[in-house]
Amino acid sequence: MSDQNTPDIIYTKVDEAPELASASFLPIIQKFAAAAGVSVGTKDISLAGRILATFPEYLSADQRQSDDLADLGKLVKTPEANVIKLPNISASVPQLVAAVKELQSQGFALPDYPETPASDEEKAVRAKYDTIKGSAVNPVLREGNSDRRAAKAVKSYAQSNPHRMGDWTADSKTRVASMSGGDFFSNETSATLAKEATAKIVLETANGETVLKEGLSYPAGTVVDATFMSAAALDAFLAEEIASTKAEGTLFSLHMKATMMKVSDPIIFGHAVKVFLKPVFDLFSPEMEELGVNPNSGMGDLLNRVKDQPAIMAAIDACLAKRPPLYMVDSDKGITNLHVPSDVIIDASMPALIRAGGKGWGPDGKESDANCVIPDNSYAPVYDESVKFFKENGKLNPATAGTVQNIGLMAQKAEEYGSHPTTFEIAEAGTVKMILDDGTVLHEHKVEAGDIWRSASARKAPIEDWVMLAIDRQRAEGTRAIFWLDENRAHDAELIAYVKPILEAKGVADKFEIMAPREATRASLETITEGKNTIAITGNVLRDYLTDLFPILELATSAKMLSIVKLMNGGGLFETGAGGSAPKHVQQLMEENHLRWDSLGEFCALGESLQFLADARSNEKARVLGQAVDAATQGILDDNRSPSRKVGEPDNRNSHYWFARYWAEALAAQNSEAELAAYFAPIAKALAEGEAAILAELAAAQGPAVDLGGYYHGDAAKTAAVMRPSATLNAIIG
Ligand code: NAP
Repeated sequence: MSDQNTPDIIYTKVDEAPELASASFLPIIQKFAAAAGVSVGTKDISLAGRILATFPEYLSADQRQSDDLADLGKLVKTPEANVIKLPNISASVPQLVAAVKELQSQGFALPDYPETPASDEEKAVRAKYDTIKGSAVNPVLREGNSDRRAAKAVKSYAQSNPHRMGDWTADSKTRVASMSGGDFFSNETSATLAKEATAKIVLETANGETVLKEGLSYPAGTVVDATFMSAAALDAFLAEEIASTKAEGTLFSLHMKATMMKVSDPIIFGHAVKVFLKPVFDLFSPEMEELGVNPNSGMGDLLNRVKDQPAIMAAIDACLAKRPPLYMVDSDKGITNLHVPSDVIIDASMPALIRAGGKGWGPDGKESDANCVIPDNSYAPVYDESVKFFKENGKLNPATAGTVQNIGLMAQKAEEYGSHPTTFEIAEAGTVKMILDDGTVLHEHKVEAGDIWRSASARKAPIEDWVMLAIDRQRAEGTRAIFWLDENRAHDAELIAYVKPILEAKGVADKFEIMAPREATRASLETITEGKNTIAITGNVLRDYLTDLFPILELATSAKMLSIVKLMNGGGLFETGAGGSAPKHVQQLMEENHLRWDSLGEFCALGESLQFLADARSNEKARVLGQAVDAATQGILDDNRSPSRKVGEPDNRNSHYWFARYWAEALAAQNSEAELAAYFAPIAKALAEGEAAILAELAAAQGPAVDLGGYYHGDAAKTAAVMRPSATLNAIIG
């Protein structure tokens, strides 16, 4: 049985569009779940909530808020955890500052965010704010590995309603370029620790030794990698690719992930800006430095800082005239690929380009072939092989294509995504050493000034759990299953040394293949082209990349994916889709009271969460409730009840009405739980009879601008009034 104080299911309180959707959907969930004796509570992981929880000393007693993220962090380590996690804001500095301002305006006496902290107090405040910044929630909650796939209903809907795909032709000039040496891929060394160890990272130079990091601690069996990107090799590669793009007459485009790889990738992006504008930096480096130009912040920031310097501006114009055209983020507004480091995010940008038939937008507002520059060669082959495959075979047909599911190694900050505290831009030529407490030099690299050195690790328990999860999922699906591991890559070779013995011991080695990412990409594309399914069992980065790539090709979006985190201590974390919190949707709601957010991710997660509860607690009512959720989700898709994008047409709230109705109808119609059937029969009837009134009330609400009482910290009553405008529906739901 559950702890008396912990609800059976936690539904997270988040930000922006998904939070608005919750104002309408959560009351429905709570009402239905209560009928099966299932309690659904909330925990606040919104940006505003996390800020308030971090600064109790600045708030009055009634303003203080509990640290729900910390509570959830504990809960996910228990077998009781059953959390439905909606997307939350991973705050950039401007978002954080805006949220603080809004809270201050609402009477919360929070300290300002110190951009350049001077005093000790400011430094302490800044350190606290820094814990809230960026991807601060997922690493705390993801105490398990990842299982992402399209729910059956979603996949079959996509097959019967295939989305549009751009045509691929054999003569497309689009290609992927990556480094042939000097990158993270080729410099990687990796070792599995035989025993528990602590470690430090030092840089030895002609002038002595600098400690880059100490006090690192790893349990026995941890796979610890180290590698570096040579700045000189990177610059030479970028210069070559800029020249060859010009010669080929395509768009120059750089694809990386500055949001997730928040230390290394902004630096690599800065190199691209500097090499692209090399003649300008050659002439004006001191002046630009004086003006505060930092290439890592992008060309947008640079242009803004030099706009009143005619000589620099003229040099930029002259340079750009000789460069290949840039792939554009927004050609109408002149925002290029190199303007903002986080505007082009590889996991979304490459699939969009591939789906469009290898086309990107150029400065002339027209589509064009592109050179897709992905400097590091660790994962670039996935995109390179996809491009080659579609050139040879033409576009994928979503009506007949099978699906690629993913099992991803993610727990405990596995692999590169956990490497931020151990990534360094090297200040001075020398040797970086990673040294264990017993004096063993685990890794050693000779580096030059400007090189980017990093260490990443993956722990034994998560790796073993990941292999076991793959075995379970393969057994459940019975499909082809491939470990995307390259025996010639140092890190992957260490993982293979874990994978093979487990598969042998479990007697399932014949059910699995192990292939390098390039071969696995081709094999997977061939499989789905034949209409069959396959499971990609990958590390943490490919988990992220592939759960956008394949869904975008198969379903047009990754926002509708089922995203389950099987927690290592037995609980379940159900993420709703792989998308974010859609700020543009909030804008539209505030302007014209139409919310185009699609709650399909929430529907799928709810079904899984209830099934999980049914299994964990042998709660048959929860099982029936969950099965009825799946029926309702199917109904939404079959009858096209998903939100429209345009004001005046059905929106998110309409889809919740239909969901409630289909859910109630499925519960009333089933005969394994008579009590539930009896309870839901009159509700189903009332929802059907109220259809005309409810739809009229929902429609009448749309059009005018609305006030939510805040963007980051809205007023609950005002939000509820906006999101629940149908008195008839409210009377039924309560
Ligand atoms: P995003 O929120 O995923 O939005 C990109 C676009 O995808 C949206 O504008 C929307 O397209 C479409 N979209 C995503 N989910 C949708 C849904 N459920 N229904 C309909 N359309 C959907 O990406 P973003 O703008 O990069 O990120 C916004 C915020 O989300 C950021 O603060 C980011 O940190 C956060 N984020 C959180 C998570 C997470 O918590 N797991 C993951 C990713 C991002 P249209 O505008 O064309 O309708």
